[in-house]
Amino acid sequence: MEIIRTVSELQSALSKVRNLGGVGLVPTMGALHEGHMSLITRARKENATVVVSVFVNPTQFNNPSDLATYPRTEEADCRLLEAAGVDIAFIPTVEEMYPEEDCRVFNLGPVAEVMEGPMRPGHFNGVAQVVSKLFAFTNPTRAYFGEKDFQQIAVIRRMVELEGGFNNLEIVSCPIKRHEDGLAMSSRNVRLSAEQRSVAPCINLALKASLIKAAEGSLNETRQWVIDTINRYPFMEVEYYEIVDGITMQPVSNWDDTEYAVGCITAYCGEVRLIDNITYNPSSK
Ligand code: AMP
Repeated sequence: MEIIRTVSELQSALSKVRNLGGVGLVPTMGALHEGHMSLITRARKENATVVVSVFVNPTQFNNPSDLATYPRTEEADCRLLEAAGVDIAFIPTVEEMYPEEDCRVFNLGPVAEVMEGPMRPGHFNGVAQVVSKLFAFTNPTRAYFGEKDFQQIAVIRRMVELEGGFNNLEIVSCPIKRHEDGLAMSSRNVRLSAEQRSVAPCINLALKASLIKAAEGSLNETRQWVIDTINRYPFMEVEYYEIVDGITMQPVSNWDDTEYAVGCITAYCGEVRLIDNITYNPSSK
């Protein structure tokens, strides 16, 4: 595996392998766990060359203390990437990614105006900035994203459309990887205390239990039940729980309003902001 830190070296390394077949890109912010590795395994199966970027992107953090405390584990990350058969680890500095301030404002539209949009002002624009740069530098055949960040995938699809498709780039969405107790794997989980860690699986438990509620009750009852159930646990505070159309990301009020209802949640466990989601009618996926 080559560890590359500059855009010009990345482009010259890729020019030598592009004729071998597809290039798969997995963008990450490091502190790698099995969730990331599932994306990488899939990319490895589907491409001749696999590039994983590791970059904690400052422009997508609206909360400075979240950026400051974001875990950084480069050595361990490189060992995992090497073992997974990755060809190129692209680990640029902030100066390399942003030699000058990125003033681009993306017209991301309705998919970015709900849920994470208003809760984290500027977040999705920052994601669009960094991912569009990574796509332009790498020119991948396929790029891999996790459904844990469900709304982010819709935002990235929109950015790709706005930017003209990046040479028919395929966006591949991959299922959420969970710990055995149901907690969605996340780099932020290491910031939970032992006590908080034991409570945090209540998010997934409540979402799963709500599938039964959904079969019996209205959408709004189901939504409120999830919020109330999680808020009863110590440390837990739901920031939002929205049931949305899985394509448009727009909240729906009745089960009949969509063929593809996805419940998206953000909840604090102590100071740690956790996200998760569940699909109510998988047959329509
Ligand atoms: P991050 O390093 O948090 O920016 O995540 C990089 C990529 O890994 C994103 O596309 C995430 O959605 C994905 N990812 C993070 N956690 C998981 C997980 N538990 N299961 C599947 N994908 C994940």
